[in-house]
Amino acid sequence: MGRFDGGSNPPYPIIMGTARVRKILKILRRTYPGASWGKRKGRTTDPFQILILTILSAQTTDNAVDRVKERLFSEFPDPASLAAAQIGSIEEIVHSLGFFRAKARHIREAASMLQERFRGEVPSRMEELLQLPGVGRKTANIVLHHAFGRCEGIAVDTHVKRLAGRIGLSDSSSQSGIERDLMKLVPRRLWGDITDLLIAHGRRICTARQPRCPECPIAHLCRYYLDASDKVRSEE
Ligand code: SF4
Repeated sequence: MGRFDGGSNPPYPIIMGTARVRKILKILRRTYPGASWGKRKGRTTDPFQILILTILSAQTTDNAVDRVKERLFSEFPDPASLAAAQIGSIEEIVHSLGFFRAKARHIREAASMLQERFRGEVPSRMEELLQLPGVGRKTANIVLHHAFGRCEGIAVDTHVKRLAGRIGLSDSSSQSGIERDLMKLVPRRLWGDITDLLIAHGRRICTARQPRCPECPIAHLCRYYLDASDKVRSEE
């Protein structure tokens, strides 16, 4: 097999069908049995904590967020205490995370809005979640799925975006376009799982820098791999 350039927008047509997607998800579930949130050690089921952790996790690793969460929630266990916190106290706790100033502001403002508009509870509807500072569709989808077991869409982060293009699940370059394509292809009951599985695969094998196709368990179903293999064959 030839080398791959790691690009996220391969020049092949999208021909992925639902049957192929199901096979991919089945293999990824077997490969990453602990990937889904529900199976992760130390996971929380508290909607407030899920909301705050998801806002904090943007552009940083789960491990980095795990390192700050204990102190954060012991000092600010609920929306009322976080809304009343000094911004400097929050920043001091989350300073090891990227964009910590913006994140500290967002979580305090989100906590204030929960107090003022939602009686201190995390709302369970997409349009209400989207009103909270620091919450876009990706975060709202994650909160809805993990806190309330509801799937209204599919969370598209940087890994999902890259893998959707490489595997051949979507040829859109926008988060909303990718989400729309995935929602058509993936059975609704798997909308929550696909994000966790693609993130796990994107971190371990299909990395941003260089996809490790020779060790990939879904290579035979991946457009990027099949397209590259065709090119190598036609050059031989
Ligand atoms: S074969 Fe696997 S590692 Fe290679 S691009 Fe496809 S999904 Fe990524």
